[in-house]
Amino acid sequence: MSNKIGWCDTTWNPIVGCQKISDGCLNCWAHKMAQRQAGQYAKHPENGTYEAYFDVKQWNGTTRLIESALDKPLHWKKPRRIAVCLMGDLFAADFTDIDEVITRINGSPQHKFIFCTKRPLAMLEYWQSFINNKNKIALALNNSIFLVSVENQAAADERIPELIKLKLLDPRFRIGVSAEPFVGNIDLTPYLKDLDWVIAGGETGQKARICDVRWICNIYDQCLIKNVPFWFKQWGKNSLPSYYFYIYLETIEHCRQFERGYNEPA
Ligand code: SF4
Repeated sequence: MSNKIGWCDTTWNPIVGCQKISDGCLNCWAHKMAQRQAGQYAKHPENGTYEAYFDVKQWNGTTRLIESALDKPLHWKKPRRIAVCLMGDLFAADFTDIDEVITRINGSPQHKFIFCTKRPLAMLEYWQSFINNKNKIALALNNSIFLVSVENQAAADERIPELIKLKLLDPRFRIGVSAEPFVGNIDLTPYLKDLDWVIAGGETGQKARICDVRWICNIYDQCLIKNVPFWFKQWGKNSLPSYYFYIYLETIEHCRQFERGYNEPA
């Protein structure tokens, strides 16, 4: 599926489904979208297109593999940056289903794959299960980056240390942080020496929570000082400069820096 996300060219959803586990999940976009697709299936079950979404619409941790989506990257000849399983959390799924996804990535060296999870421990356990199968790990590592999603300092302090353990498994793991939805200030300084990429953005959607633009400016400054590639996504629908004009000019200057600072890992 083509998209306007910017930090990737395409999304690929061979596994769908998840369960809310933290503040960052409160207004989960994927859950709403899954309910919408499930409604489509209920109206037209003969179509079958959204059957998997019907199975996971309760968002209770059930996940489904979509066989018809699995081989898509193998057929995309032109290199793409592909975000994997945004309609859920890949590492909420069974390891055997994750195997199916990784097998396709092994067969698609022309692409870059971007993983993002709120379950770094499950991700670590998955890769540990392959520790004796170096070839399989090596293939997937050549063209992938693994992000944890963090919404505030507590989530960062809980998830990023687990993420960093991937580099102890194999130093070729490329890892990063997606600070979105940004609902609290985050100091990434203790972790930046191990990170290859940082993405940040305020919450979008009707019920978006407040994002103080200074939080995003802070994290940008932290990355700038440590020379970590940074991708600015958006201020969010409910960002504080709308209410506090006094930091508006400062924000504009940061926007210019964001434009100059556009980058991604090699
Ligand atoms: S982990 Fe992601 S997909 Fe799963 S409920 Fe939370 S926000 Fe939604």
